[in-house]
Amino acid sequence: MVKEIKTSNKSYFKCEECKFIYKDKKIAQECESYCKDYHSCNTELTKHSVRI
Ligand SMILES: [Zn+2]
Repeated sequence: MVKEIKTSNKSYFKCEECKFIYKDKKIAQECESYCKDYHSCNTELTKHSVRI
């Protein structure tokens, strides 16, 4: 499950498989399903990850 992370003024979504964090829930969900299927990361998705 994608985990929602709330900060003081924003929400982020974390892929529980690879621990990357995204602003966009849809991308986090795509990342997680990719991670589960392939057990590796899709760089097309992880390039959208953010540091918080
Ligand atoms: Zn992932």
